[in-house]
Amino acid sequence: MSHSLTLICPLPNGIHARPASLIAEFCAGFGAAIRWRNQRNGQWADAKSVLSLIGGDILFNDVVDIEIDGEGAARVVDELSRFLRQTLPRCDEPVAAAPAASRALPRSLAELSPSPCFGQPAGQGVAIGELCVHRGFRMPEPAELPLSTDRDADLAVLAVARRALAEQLRQQCGSQGGEAAGVSRAHLAILSDPDFRARLDAAVADGAGAARAVAAVVAHYRAQLSKSASEYLREREMDIRDVGRRLLEALAPEIERAGEALPEAALLWAEDLAPSELLALDRDKVKGLLLARGGLTSHTIILARAFSLPVLTGVQRAAIANGIGRTAVLDAGLGALFQSPDTVVLDYYREEEALLAAQRQRLARASGGIAASADGQRLELAVNIASAAEAQLGFAQGADGVGLFRTEMLFMDADEPPGEDEQFQCYAEVVRLAAGRPVIIRTFDIGGDKPARCLPAPQESNPFLGYRAIRMYPDQEVVFRAQLRAILRASALGPVKVMIPMVATLGEARWVRRLLEEERAALGRAEPVPLGIMLEVPSVLFQLDAFCREIDFFSVGSNDLTQYLFAADRDNERVGNLYDSLHPAFLAALNQAAATIHRHGRWIGLCGEAAAAPHALPLFLGMGLDELSMSAPSLQECRRRLRELDAGCCRELLARALACADGAEVRALVAAAAARPALPMLTADCLMPDAVWGSKAAAIKGLVDRLWLLERCDDRYGMEEDLWLREQAYSTGLGHGFAIPHAKSGHVLHPTLCLARLAQPVDWGASDGQPVDMVLLLAFNAADAGAAHLKFFSRLARLVMHEDFRQALRAERDPECLLALLRDRLEGAA
Ligand code: PEP
Ligand code: MG
Repeated sequence: MSHSLTLICPLPNGIHARPASLIAEFCAGFGAAIRWRNQRNGQWADAKSVLSLIGGDILFNDVVDIEIDGEGAARVVDELSRFLRQTLPRCDEPVAAAPAASRALPRSLAELSPSPCFGQPAGQGVAIGELCVHRGFRMPEPAELPLSTDRDADLAVLAVARRALAEQLRQQCGSQGGEAAGVSRAHLAILSDPDFRARLDAAVADGAGAARAVAAVVAHYRAQLSKSASEYLREREMDIRDVGRRLLEALAPEIERAGEALPEAALLWAEDLAPSELLALDRDKVKGLLLARGGLTSHTIILARAFSLPVLTGVQRAAIANGIGRTAVLDAGLGALFQSPDTVVLDYYREEEALLAAQRQRLARASGGIAASADGQRLELAVNIASAAEAQLGFAQGADGVGLFRTEMLFMDADEPPGEDEQFQCYAEVVRLAAGRPVIIRTFDIGGDKPARCLPAPQESNPFLGYRAIRMYPDQEVVFRAQLRAILRASALGPVKVMIPMVATLGEARWVRRLLEEERAALGRAEPVPLGIMLEVPSVLFQLDAFCREIDFFSVGSNDLTQYLFAADRDNERVGNLYDSLHPAFLAALNQAAATIHRHGRWIGLCGEAAAAPHALPLFLGMGLDELSMSAPSLQECRRRLRELDAGCCRELLARALACADGAEVRALVAAAAARPALPMLTADCLMPDAVWGSKAAAIKGLVDRLWLLERCDDRYGMEEDLWLREQAYSTGLGHGFAIPHAKSGHVLHPTLCLARLAQPVDWGASDGQPVDMVLLLAFNAADAGAAHLKFFSRLARLVMHEDFRQALRAERDPECLLALLRDRLEGAA
């Protein structure tokens, strides 16, 4: 006898893959047939099939008739109604629409009421583009794949692929947590879904080959789901496509990975992106990256920084679900993503782009010339590269050489290791670009987070502690020798050095030396090539005297040395608090290494990410390192800062840093010591006689941005906030159209007076109710201003009381005359 039930869908996102798999799993436990009918669209669904349920397009509040027939139907009604009442409503977390702001935005942005979601920022900058999901694989049309030649064989092949994928997914469910395990479970449910299986088997029985059957079944569901009224359900098609992709990888490995069809400006989201996948992207089109996973020193992030790509990590797929295909803004400075921003937010960010471009230009102008400290201590600044294109970028930024050529990137997306000639061409191009500057070529560092299918390695539970870099070479001697030969040949074209990654023992270094000399002799090259090692495995630190007798130079791999010294995985944000290249323990290790290496007359550089860390430069200068090598975008800023440092003071600073308790203390110490040459309080570039700002908040932001651009303030958001704290206490609109916003702030580097004359007066909440067209911003440093800022403020306020002063400031068009007028009147009022 048939029984029935009615359900009003309680799930805000409808019945998508996750709830559908739960329902199907529950219903599969009964012998009775259970069918659902969505009253809204008349669609029938088999409640034991996830895909059939998804295809029912059941949305929030849809009314569903449920029919139960056959064995134990009465019992099913009881249990199912309990499940629908108690379990179903709680089985799905709401889709995270852009989460509410969880961090403070600068006031000028917050007043535009945007609703960002946040991630962990990596790299700097702002990018505007269309939000896209990285697919990396084009699902072929069924007709592109072969028909069956042997149906039984195809069925068997399909069954094997299904079993293997099911096993992989089961393992992933066990080893992953949270969201990722949920996805794997949903994929497993799709794979074992009766409807999915039946369609696959039927397609093969109809004469499609196994691969074609998969493509056809995926196409069927795609067509069905694309009709859904719910955007969220339409999105679920991704899950089916993903399962299909993984089956096809086993059934038709020859299928080409598709070039990504990207819009002209793309903000690309990926669950995880391998370095090789990043390299394969069209970098003219990808303006920013959003990743669900990825530690800040993972190679993908390192590469992204090298390409000046702003990145946010820790952004889950659910957080961007509603913004895909629409415009978004990624602000790596704030760690924020703004989806479908309105025009005022977009305008704000267009101005931000212009401001950052102006800052880059200023930096480029200020950073020419030799890399040395103010007292003349030389510190070579070199570039890290993975390709000739990056070398070009680096030399355009004035790099003194290539400090690290990560050659493994040539191996990573290849089916075969690149041959000697191919490598030679590539190294030769870089050596030619270097035009006499040194090039350190590191032999391939495969393994860890950089697997390469052309040099397969077994799955390991601790890849960073396993079969990686030099540890592979004895098994890959032919490949290693070919690389040495390619490097030796390139060394005929310019000063080339060879460097070996992950050396832990003298025995390894000696083995490499022997092979290098054998290949040099075979090539008949008289000139030896300097042989260096990465200083990244702690054991080397304790045998440095011996290494110095055998090795020509060293380059600190701070990324790895930090992870091995603190036993904290460089890719794992959860132990990110332990991973600190400015920790006194790390600095002490490095300082001792530098002293020993120099005592032996050897050279030491540093090529990990710490080379460009904001507080590290004075400490590395104090240690007397010979070189720092970093990604191209960091070079100019580093050279500019180096010129302001005094090596003697930096040695004293280092001694104090070594006595600190932790990295936070070191950072505070370095920040407090950062002294800059004095600047006059008022210069011509502090005057903005034609400012166009639409509000008080925009005016304050504009003035602070100018301060920042002139390097008179080190944190524009902090400075903006300090000014607003003062405005909250009382408005600085003094009447007569004049305002004097002012603050004593820890972010001010030089006391400054900045003037803006506004084309359109703005409401300032002034005491006389008049809008303001003249703004005089007064900024003093919190630590050293004393009472000076109040004296200055009252002097200015007194001047503003005089009509002739107000008129003169409004009337004067010539910037130099305006500057002279202000200086003159201020001195007169002192
Ligand atoms: C390092 O470990 O610091 C380094 C530069 O090498 P990689 O990041 O390629 O491991
Ligand atoms: Mg390393």
